[in-house]
Amino acid sequence: MRIPSIVLLIIFITLALSLIALVAAVSFFSAGDQVIAGYLLLVGAVGLIFSSYMLYQTRRRISALKIEVPPILTTIECKKCGFKNVREFQRGDYIFKEGEPCQKCNDKMLITAIYREVRNKDKEKERSRF
Ligand SMILES: [Zn+2]
Repeated sequence: MRIPSIVLLIIFITLALSLIALVAAVSFFSAGDQVIAGYLLLVGAVGLIFSSYMLYQTRRRISALKIEVPPILTTIECKKCGFKNVREFQRGDYIFKEGEPCQKCNDKMLITAIYREVRNKDKEKERSRF
């Protein structure tokens, strides 16, 4: 997914910088510079909390997106005997494309519809969320 990968990059940079700040804080503390060590500790801790919180939010959003997108279905129909078959959309499917042979009469089948499956329950959930 496009957007989360950029967000993830920012999160990991923040995470890395916070860890560097924490390591630097330890070395400044052992060198006796407690004021700088304290600032670095604060920056590192805030960065860690911020990046882990963002990571948690992003992961939640990705899993929510996965649930919200219903599958695309392709309906294939046999013009000869009327046999209908619904399967998941495959790359290269288009309406009136000749599909696989009919399971009943072995005649060539046609793709008659390509649509996104709509689940009413999901829509209700979406409405209550916003
Ligand atoms: Zn048929």
